[in-house]
Amino acid sequence: MARRRTRINWPLFWIGAALLAAFLGYCIVAPAVEYARGVGAASGRPSFAASGLSLTEHIRTRCVEYFIGLWIFSFGAIIGSFLNVVAYRMPRGESVVWRPSRCPFCETPIRSTDNIPVLGWLRLRGRCRACRLPISPRYPTIEFLMGLLFFSFALADLFSGAMLNPALGPLRGGVAEIVLSARWDFAAVLAYQGCLAALLMGVALMRFDGQRPPGKLLVFAFVVAFAAPLAFPELRPEVWSRTDVLSGALRRLEAYPAGILCGLALGYLWHFVLQYRAQGIKPQVGPTLSLMMVGLFFGWQAACSVFGLALVVHLLAGLWACQTHKRNWPADASVLAGFYVHTLGWSVWEMFRWWPSQDMSAAGLMLYVLLCGCLLVAVRSVMLLACWAPADAA
Ligand SMILES: [Zn+2]
Repeated sequence: MARRRTRINWPLFWIGAALLAAFLGYCIVAPAVEYARGVGAASGRPSFAASGLSLTEHIRTRCVEYFIGLWIFSFGAIIGSFLNVVAYRMPRGESVVWRPSRCPFCETPIRSTDNIPVLGWLRLRGRCRACRLPISPRYPTIEFLMGLLFFSFALADLFSGAMLNPALGPLRGGVAEIVLSARWDFAAVLAYQGCLAALLMGVALMRFDGQRPPGKLLVFAFVVAFAAPLAFPELRPEVWSRTDVLSGALRRLEAYPAGILCGLALGYLWHFVLQYRAQGIKPQVGPTLSLMMVGLFFGWQAACSVFGLALVVHLLAGLWACQTHKRNWPADASVLAGFYVHTLGWSVWEMFRWWPSQDMSAAGLMLYVLLCGCLLVAVRSVMLLACWAPADAA
């Protein structure tokens, strides 16, 4: 039997080519150019030689960085793939673990090679292998976004030598030093942030589908937020204020009720000011669950910070809805985006005296409340413009 000639899959070909080009550029060409330049310069030393590295050592460090970056992106994409399954099955009460993936149309089990995040979808050109019906581009999009999210958190925590993360403090050797000296605390911070991002993405996807996220997600968040700091103390949320209300071991526990209550209050505020109905979608509710999770993981300061940033994102989403009339943008998706900006800009927010933190002054608090109030009014006005009928008017 003659075998059919395999056609080149161009999207996969270009992804492979881009990865190879990035490898050659980042790991080989860039260090070599820097080396050649350094030899030509007056000092006769490339800039990385100041750290005592030779050219081969520098190339080796870059290779470690490249493959760790690739690995973290792939790991994020696998989490994204799992979230697609969770968001579909969990509200329907199905097991998220004990059933292999199937095509939703013809029920054919999906081969493991077709189930590779992003690449599997591209390989099949977005169609089921058995029935040729289209598979939603949402699946590879979520996988790609989660990969990108993990990768950017890794940039902030690991690759920059934790320059962007004040909790860890700068480390000169960058990611290679973290890996070679087995600094598990860095990996733990990344995993902790990634875990919260995955929970928020799961909630946002369920809301996007008009489903109600199950309450056990909050229980899961509580277990992680409580257990992780026992192993890695630097993950503990910031204490709620400089003044000692409780002392000793109890003082560490203050952060949890403060965070969760703050998230609850802000979620309800959002819910009452901004919940809306629109044609063809279920009524959109406030991001109470998401904000409570943020408060649990990172304390009330993070909940307030993410709330403000999420309002900015929601304002942009409303303006976008005015243009496109796509109104199904859940509040929880804005919270996820707000959390992303909050995490990447952590060291920047810390510099503002009026940004929510335990060192916040009374005037700073007033300014912050005023700012959020203005944002709430702005988002509500844009929603009315975008023909989202607020729930109380419907
Ligand atoms: Zn099918």
